[in-house]
Amino acid sequence: MKYFVNDSCIGCGLCAMSCPEVFEMIDSGVAIATEGEVPVGVLDTAAQAQSGCPVNAIENED
Ligand code: SF4
Repeated sequence: MKYFVNDSCIGCGLCAMSCPEVFEMIDSGVAIATEGEVPVGVLDTAAQAQSGCPVNAIENED
């Protein structure tokens, strides 16, 4: 599973707080997702971060 953040991100910071292993805030004020496969142990929290995004800016691909 890989995640990425699209242009809808409003920079609320929720994803980086709930799953810092995958999401981080960058200087421009939006979130980015770590490149590459999400480790198995982090899949649940990454999925929660995705569903918690208020603007559905987090997308994923298998
Ligand atoms: S939760 Fe959504 S809107 Fe908030 S920083 Fe993360 S990607 Fe951006």
